[in-house]
Amino acid sequence: MKLFSHVEQMGHEQIVFCCDKESGLKAIIAIHDTTLGPALGGTRLLPYEKEDDAFNDVLRLSRGMTYKAACAGLALGGGKAVIIADPSQKSEAMFRSYGRFVESLNGRYITAEDMNTNVANMDHIRLETRYVTGVSAGLGGSGDPSIMTAKGVLYGIDASVKYRLGKSELRGIKIAVQGIGAVGKHLCKMLHDRGAQLYVTDIDDQKLKQAHSLYNATIVTEAELYALDVDVYAPCARGSVLNSSTIPKLKAKVIAGCANNQLEDEEKHAKILKENKILYAPDYVINAGGLINVANELTGYNLEKVESEIARIANTLDSIYIEADKLGLTTQEAAKRFAEKRIQSVANLKTMSSFKHSAIGNIIK
Ligand code: NAD
Repeated sequence: MKLFSHVEQMGHEQIVFCCDKESGLKAIIAIHDTTLGPALGGTRLLPYEKEDDAFNDVLRLSRGMTYKAACAGLALGGGKAVIIADPSQKSEAMFRSYGRFVESLNGRYITAEDMNTNVANMDHIRLETRYVTGVSAGLGGSGDPSIMTAKGVLYGIDASVKYRLGKSELRGIKIAVQGIGAVGKHLCKMLHDRGAQLYVTDIDDQKLKQAHSLYNATIVTEAELYALDVDVYAPCARGSVLNSSTIPKLKAKVIAGCANNQLEDEEKHAKILKENKILYAPDYVINAGGLINVANELTGYNLEKVESEIARIANTLDSIYIEADKLGLTTQEAAKRFAEKRIQSVANLKTMSSFKHSAIGNIIK
């Protein structure tokens, strides 16, 4: 693989390879863009088959975090890290070793949970660096962010239903939720409380039975779910669910859910959705509630402030939908423009030099 040309093409600032034989740590930290602030993004732990896969994943994910933070209005940039390991290899030593690498970056990168890493792992990282968020309540953390992600998705569904269907409440709206996990279960409760009619699918029968008894949700198979005559489809399980085989089956007018990387091919499938008059809420905009939550831990957690920042997701989506319609873009393209415009506006700020931070200041003591 041509490392530098790949990094240059994706626009990253810095890539850090972390290796510690004693603890078995093999990690890559990717800092994509720090124009808006230090790079924040979770640490994903996976037994990648090839090192190239880990490298590509961390480049793609960190770039996504730049757009996500920019759209969420946070003073943060985008970064991400991957640890190449099987979850069974996790240990205190591995995370403390990793924490030392994070510390060495002096706050340019702040980490958090992601796939296969949890609050306990963040607590171990916290022993070595303060540049970690999503720690336990005892260390000043705010706990599992999934409920905040669900809230953001609820506001996003509100905004999307209003924009596409002209309805200002969810009572009687038919919504298909795919995946009743950490986020999906909270979302189902919130939607049920708002009077929506739910259809659910999951690979876990227990979760389905619970959703049926608690929220009167109709249980369907994954294949049935795509073809359901519903108003909203909320993907809350896994990525790549919007592809050439599923999109032609969809009857929903709105797609709004928390899953990451919902479009198998960002350009092609966003375009087909637009042609089919299906309003797609870009995933990194609607699922930013969790990020907003952990970001607030950094400045002293204030629930009221978090809630109001999450509520803003609805306004952001609205602006993106209006811009997409005005310029004939897909909502995915409009979201990217929204993020890039904000980053560029800060990048364009006039440099204000001072003695302390100037080249001459470094020479003359
Ligand atoms: P989770 O693992 O708790 O839940 C996923 C659920 O999907 C599980 O109940 C699982 O059984 C189910 N599932 C898996 N494969 C399925 C399939 N083929 N069909 C139907 N159901 C299936 O994960 P989560 O934390 O709820 O996150 C869900 C998605 O949202 C992920 O893509 C995640 O990256 C994204 N996300 C989560 C958060 C958060 O705060 N947790 C924030 C942003 C984005």
